[in-house]
Amino acid sequence: MTVLDLRDVTQVFGGRGQPVRALNNVSLGVSEAERVGIVGESGSGKTTLARIALGLTKPTSGRVTLLDRDVTELRSDHQRYIHRHVQMVFQDPLSSLNPRKSVRQIIALPLEAQRIGSPQDRERRVVELMDSVGLPSRMLDSWPSQLSGGQRQRVGIARALAISPKLLFLDEPTASLDVSVQARILELLVGLQAKLRIAQVMISHNLGVIRHAADRVAVMYLGQIVEQAPTARLYAAPAHPYTQALFAAVPAVGARKRHGAALARVRGEVASATNIPSGCPFHPRCPQATERCRGEVPVVSTVASGHQVRCHLHA
Ligand code: SF4
Repeated sequence: MTVLDLRDVTQVFGGRGQPVRALNNVSLGVSEAERVGIVGESGSGKTTLARIALGLTKPTSGRVTLLDRDVTELRSDHQRYIHRHVQMVFQDPLSSLNPRKSVRQIIALPLEAQRIGSPQDRERRVVELMDSVGLPSRMLDSWPSQLSGGQRQRVGIARALAISPKLLFLDEPTASLDVSVQARILELLVGLQAKLRIAQVMISHNLGVIRHAADRVAVMYLGQIVEQAPTARLYAAPAHPYTQALFAAVPAVGARKRHGAALARVRGEVASATNIPSGCPFHPRCPQATERCRGEVPVVSTVASGHQVRCHLHA
């Protein structure tokens, strides 16, 4: 079953002056229990894509379907429906948790907002969620400031799971944590996927995190998905010159470190979304660019099962 389907989604901000093309004809499907990773440099359109999927921004064109319901229009009933089925886990757990609420109150809030269960039912559910994310129930009356970074992120995940959503959006959920805590949070997410079958979309700059957190990876550049493949396939045989450059730009000092590092800078500057280069948007930075790349927009080609690339080299 497809949980989320974005079809030919384009987002242009700014209207007359200097319009910013934040997303350009993006299509992405997420199936039940699937974990999808989205990587790309700043300005690649990852955040705009998340905002559209969460019903916070209406796309300029294209279609957004959540569980067979078209939610493209920003209507209050659509937003309620989206909030019922899609939840977000934020990058910085400290700023995303209300410092004046206890752990119990924070986790119970979505249940109260959606008027789910009696107070006793909600208390039972909160205790169950604490157990699911590996926190002892003695912490229920703690405040966020009394918890470690990893514990706070577990509370954020418990809150997101409270109303049993179909899809979790995770925005750099381990970026503010140290490496050993990162690994435990990733393990927790893998375990939850196996147990609860909730689909997950993780946005990250970190190639190592995405490798462990995703079954399939979409690589974004200047508002487009330029490559999409099953994770093992993408890491073994990246086909788009941009994806290859992302891997090559990370210091190659052993596979573990190489894939564990954050995205390093790729040669050259990302063009402005107000002035996207003609033809292939990556051509000013691409070591394999030809005359054709400067004038002709590449289409998406399938190079292997589930592996698509937007590049003339593979057309
Ligand atoms: Fe490079 Fe051309 Fe492929 Fe774009 S289409 S990534 S410029 S080879």
